[in-house]
Amino acid sequence: MSTPQTQMETPMTGAGGEAVVVGGGVAGIATALILAERGWKVTLVEARPRLGGRATSYQRGELTVDNGQHVFLRCCTAYRGFLDRLGAGPDTGMTFLQDRLDIPLRSAADGSEARLRRNRLPAPLHLAAALGGYGLLPLRDRARLGGAALALRRTDPASPHADAQGFGPFLRKHGQSKAAVDRLWSVISTATLNIEPDEASLALAAKVFRTGLLETTDGADLGYALVPLGKIHDEMGRAALGKNGVTVLDSTKVEQLDGTRVTVTDRAGERTELAADAVVLAVPHDVAATLLPQPHPTDFAHLGHSPILNIHLRYDRTVLDPVLDGPFLAAVDTPAQWIFDRTAASGLDGPPGSYLAITVSAADKLAGTPAKELTALFEAELATLLPQARGARVEEAFVTREQHATFRQARGSAALRPGPGTAVPGVYLAGAWTDTGWPDTMESAVRSAINAATLVVREGAAAGGHQGRTTTGEY
Ligand SMILES: Cc1cc2nc3c(=O)[nH]c(=O)nc-3n(C[C@H](O)[C@H](O)[C@H](O)COP(=O)(O)OP(=O)(O)OC[C@H]3O[C@@H](n4cnc5c(N)ncnc54)[C@H](O)[C@@H]3O)c2cc1C
Repeated sequence: MSTPQTQMETPMTGAGGEAVVVGGGVAGIATALILAERGWKVTLVEARPRLGGRATSYQRGELTVDNGQHVFLRCCTAYRGFLDRLGAGPDTGMTFLQDRLDIPLRSAADGSEARLRRNRLPAPLHLAAALGGYGLLPLRDRARLGGAALALRRTDPASPHADAQGFGPFLRKHGQSKAAVDRLWSVISTATLNIEPDEASLALAAKVFRTGLLETTDGADLGYALVPLGKIHDEMGRAALGKNGVTVLDSTKVEQLDGTRVTVTDRAGERTELAADAVVLAVPHDVAATLLPQPHPTDFAHLGHSPILNIHLRYDRTVLDPVLDGPFLAAVDTPAQWIFDRTAASGLDGPPGSYLAITVSAADKLAGTPAKELTALFEAELATLLPQARGARVEEAFVTREQHATFRQARGSAALRPGPGTAVPGVYLAGAWTDTGWPDTMESAVRSAINAATLVVREGAAAGGHQGRTTTGEY
């Protein structure tokens, strides 16, 4: 795996026009940085006080809490390039990237365990030993995994036919039992697509499994932040933007667009108008649909949403065994899907105390459950899963709910995702929900930024006004 190329090391100044980027999530920050480094004068407008959008943190007493545990993979080359650009790559200690995929798994039903650990053989042989010994499935099911994996490897993620099909039916067609779906396939697909396998787009599932697991040996090596997400996306994002001359207007909401004239309301309630040569809407799809001036079609407003819950539990002692489990554990036969030890990453001193974040993706059924019920449910689930949690005291318990965590990555969703161009001259779209071919992830957000900035620069140059260089591929 080559190190992602960073195109921003040699800033150009004064060569572009003026751009307004709306939305300070990962896509907006990346778009603003790329354009600034191509010589554009950029203003980034963000409605909230913080940058980072859906990948952010907030303060709760002495805890710095991420709104949800975020992971990335080695194959996320654009996001990794973005991290490097902010000075937050794994070499800095801000993030961690496994040198070899290694996921411990445990069943809450019977305590059986497995380890999804790759070796160094070429893909897909790098997983053969792990799947052959996958203790969460009987031998009969393990023997059938390879056939489905090869069929998935032959599925074109860009095919509208695959987008029209569900992942669950595909798995059943290729001989996968309910246990195989629940105890293996769904562990990966629900976490990455935030939707149950039966509803998930086969095209997006093929993208995840092919790019992450089936085509390269190291694509799925897992990475995550060792500091709060807000430190990276807000604090370090702002520093990089400032260094590149981007003006950041936070707590400032874009109310409407009239062509490339942007009306904003600031934190004092004052309305002003910003004029630009180009406007990039890096906002969620439903916001883009309301802001985009007609007559641009807004089918993408129907992309919908899927919720993610995180249940946060603080214990008086270490409950996730650092040797047996590691810093995280994937669980099956329980609503507690992924459990991450966040003690150090959230600024807590520990041991003896520890702080766990439990992720529940595709959380439609639990999204409306009161926090007290949820924390009681997950305390009990963890007591079943983690022997050391049984006698431990829970000192603090709370829930973060993201009802609009991702768009609904259901069958037919690829057909609704637009590219970066719009029917309105000078107005562009970015955001993880746009057509990048990737699921709604930080990787997709940065890729969308590259797509949008490339088009802005190209069309700016074609219009003759701005001489910014065309960006190329990687961030
Ligand atoms: C709980 C949770 C867990 C997740 N886990 C993962 C994971 O493990 N790995 C992964 O890669 N991805 C994960 N994701 C998805 C990831 O967070 C998103 O794909 C990514 O952050 C989207 O970035 P974005 O910039 O496209 O959009 P957003 O982050 O939504 O940014 C849009 C920004 O626009 C702003 N905005 C909206 N309206 C206006 C307006 N009118 N004026 C000005 N600003 C406006 C918003 O405030 C926001 O900051 C997770 C998401 C959640 C919520």
